[in-house]
Amino acid sequence: MICSGNCASCPVPLLFLAGGKRAKSRIKKEYTKPIQKKRLASQFIFLFITNAAFIFGVTGLIYPYFYCWEAPQATMSCPIGIMEHAVLETSIALALILTGTIFIVSSIFGRAACGWACPIGFLQDLIGKDKKKNKKGMSERDRKARYIKYAILAAIPPVVYITGTMAYTNICPIGGLTATIPILLLSPGGYTPTAFFIPKITLVALTIFLIVFVRRGWCKYLCPVGAMMGPFNKVSLLQIKFDESKCLKCYNCAIACPMDINMPYDNKSAECIRCGLCIDACPTDALKFGFTWQ
Ligand code: SF4
Ligand code: SF4
Ligand code: SF4
Repeated sequence: MICSGNCASCPVPLLFLAGGKRAKSRIKKEYTKPIQKKRLASQFIFLFITNAAFIFGVTGLIYPYFYCWEAPQATMSCPIGIMEHAVLETSIALALILTGTIFIVSSIFGRAACGWACPIGFLQDLIGKDKKKNKKGMSERDRKARYIKYAILAAIPPVVYITGTMAYTNICPIGGLTATIPILLLSPGGYTPTAFFIPKITLVALTIFLIVFVRRGWCKYLCPVGAMMGPFNKVSLLQIKFDESKCLKCYNCAIACPMDINMPYDNKSAECIRCGLCIDACPTDALKFGFTWQ
């Protein structure tokens, strides 16, 4: 789609205006420390790159995060959509391009794309509920619930194969949020509802609820792309390094963590989105970003 010259043709303002006041106060309150200022700049830049088809066109690349290729100004392809096409068309080339993209980005940065690039993560950072002041990390029940996203990821290829359909795409709430709803609002005649329209919109409503009422709720429990990238945190070149000799055991790091990770000890957690909030919260520089060779 060519840019109409009308900024409202982009889903981004719709998403972020929806956050309104809360987004503004979150930026003022949380994006104040050095790493967070850089992260905010990065999140805005990627938000723009993600929706800049009016400049770059459709690039043929794959987003190393979750975004819908049907969004009005999408520049790249959705990793889950590519996975489904790879299964439906038994395409080894598509499977290799997808795994190559995720492997290269995640083996260098771990899940940092979630904290620094993904617009859906950014949306949650801006409009998600304030997190509870919790020093203890996630509860056992919460820890188990985090496996749901892995189950969803594992279920996609067999379900696509058995049904012979883009089973996830048909009901994808992120597609609903970033493509279906903007298209419906901006050009009501431009969308032909399918049999999956009602389930998809219902899932969008549930997802919005999760995004607003649970900090990073979608990323924690349901995102299959986060599930693809998370395990790389254990081996990625970029790590969060912990120097125990400097630690005061104040647990400011755990309190700051939006993913409720048991910091500073679980610094290789698959749940870590490399946001750096724990590093900024540490009074003694016991935590820092570093590459494995540093
Ligand atoms: S887990 Fe969250 S931040 Fe990461 S790709 Fe999914 S939606 Fe984006
Ligand atoms: S451990 Fe630190 S970098 Fe990782 S998600 Fe939590 S606050 Fe962000
Ligand atoms: S914030 Fe720093 S000093 Fe406090 S517990 Fe975490 S690593 Fe230790």
